[in-house]
Amino acid sequence: MTRQGNIIYINGPVVRADHMEGFMVREMVMVGEKKLIGEVISLENDLGTIQVYEETSGLRTGEKVYGTGKPLSLKLGPGIIGNIFDGIERPLSKIYDLGFKFIPEGIGLISLDEKKSWDVEIMVEPGDILKSGEVFAKIQETTIIVHKVMVPPGEKGRVVSTVKSGSYTIQDTLVVLDEDGKKYELKMYQEWPVRQPRPIVQRMPIEKLLVTGQRVIDTFFPLAKGGTAAIPGGFGTGKTITQHQLARWSDADIIVYIGCGERGNEMTEVLEDFPKLKDPNTNNPLMDRTVLIANTSNMPVAAREASIYTGITIAEYFRDMGYNVAVMADSTSRWAEALREISGRLEEMPAEEGYPAYLASRLAAFYERAGYVKNLNGTEGSITVIGAVSPAGGDFSEPVTKSTKRIVGTFLALDRELAYARHFPSINWLLSYSSYIPMLKDWFKENVASDMISIRSKMMGILQEENKLMDIVKLVGEDVLPDDQRVILEIARIIKTGYLQQNAFHPQDLHTALSRQYSMLKVIDQLYDRAYSCVKKGIPLSKVKDEKLFSDIIMMKYNATEVEAKSGIFQELTDRINRYYDSIENLYKEGAADES
Ligand code: ADP
Ligand code: MG
Repeated sequence: MTRQGNIIYINGPVVRADHMEGFMVREMVMVGEKKLIGEVISLENDLGTIQVYEETSGLRTGEKVYGTGKPLSLKLGPGIIGNIFDGIERPLSKIYDLGFKFIPEGIGLISLDEKKSWDVEIMVEPGDILKSGEVFAKIQETTIIVHKVMVPPGEKGRVVSTVKSGSYTIQDTLVVLDEDGKKYELKMYQEWPVRQPRPIVQRMPIEKLLVTGQRVIDTFFPLAKGGTAAIPGGFGTGKTITQHQLARWSDADIIVYIGCGERGNEMTEVLEDFPKLKDPNTNNPLMDRTVLIANTSNMPVAAREASIYTGITIAEYFRDMGYNVAVMADSTSRWAEALREISGRLEEMPAEEGYPAYLASRLAAFYERAGYVKNLNGTEGSITVIGAVSPAGGDFSEPVTKSTKRIVGTFLALDRELAYARHFPSINWLLSYSSYIPMLKDWFKENVASDMISIRSKMMGILQEENKLMDIVKLVGEDVLPDDQRVILEIARIIKTGYLQQNAFHPQDLHTALSRQYSMLKVIDQLYDRAYSCVKKGIPLSKVKDEKLFSDIIMMKYNATEVEAKSGIFQELTDRINRYYDSIENLYKEGAADES
């Protein structure tokens, strides 16, 4: 029996049809004569409600709904990396090649190139027993990524036959498995429903830093491989630039960048920018480890709702191969607005600010797909999720920011006043936090320095102390403070301008390796210790603060390239600090001796 629903109602992306008995909830359907892609979201007797991922303006009642018998799924295989997809994995670059400016309706669920041949290395032989998730072939997908072709979750068996290593397309059968007489053909791709997390063996503890090269993040509010983070901030505070910096510089193997609901021109920047970028270490194009998913504000809202699931499912697939994947979503607020719009059209009871009551649980379910895990095939892999949040007017008490804050491990609060003062990244050091620091302590010890975390805490303490002092300064001015408090203000100024501020467009400053971050911290720490102790000995601040020395320390980020770091600029600064304070301490001692 061919199942066919009959459309009786159309409201934007929401369509209702009768004669829907025999369909399943979450089933992918084709809607109308144009065969628009949709998903059944609820069924009541013969009445079905469908969310449509394409423009429905030409659709009429009386047109039919056709079942596909399976949930909205992605094709996962070679050809994903370096590609640009829409929210339901239709390749935008390909569609551009076909000469369409916008995605034509009814083009269907094309995703991976079926004609392209890949060099496949078969790694199994007849007689081998394969488990779910096991790698049976390898493909060099890009210059840096080896695509490990895996047995889909749920399938397993004995290898009956294989092709020889060689050149194949995604439709070719590579290996045939037999399980109790049941045959299963393995190809180089598999399908997976986007809304269902891919299975793992177990979650592992989080204990590795996701290195980003951004000083305020790595040193003060670190991200963890397998962790979650949010970057909330009002318009123009630097969410997109921060996400770009993370996509460029973080030490993940694979980047999934979801451009979600922002204006088209912002995404165009990404589309034009990213393909030009090179990995500074290998000089390979950064696109060779990157997947872009684009659903700009002018594209259908339902596909925007789906885009974060498409992104995270792709991330899970590469995690299953043993890779560390980082997912950036810009912005989850636009995703939540899509959810709100659809919910409104479904006439659901609105909760806070019109968002559906399930907003928080959907957000949690998305971030829960992050983690450091042991895969079915025994490898370890991770997904780190970093979501930008764009609260209207920068008000962090609104529902999306509030719910996200309860979920994520790192919270990078962008600050309008800092952005206005051109202090970038505008990450507010008093409102931000990372709950991963205790888990990363050992990692920092082994990979950076044993005192990295304690210097970080000391610097954080100085910043907090400065904040308290500034309350007094605002009332009565800096002059009334004793010198041992004014020295705190001076050092805090150095930490802020010399360390926390980092210019994403300055060639020497856009990225700072961890060893350099540590060296810079040590210089500031040394300056603080020596200056503070001089002040405590009664030497006036005017002597303790040497303008040239202080400004050279603020400028060290621009003067120390990675190579110069080795050639000793930090040692020179440390020596200068010691010479200077030795000399004024000696002068003071002599002066004190003269007086007595
Ligand atoms: P948002 O996405 O929050 O609206 P953007 O990321 O587009 O904001 O940033 C707005 C502007 O702020 C950028 O065009 C840039 O001029 C400036 N900016 C943001 N972050 C940095 C940075 N790290 N270094 C230098 N400039 C920055
Ligand atoms: Mg932006």
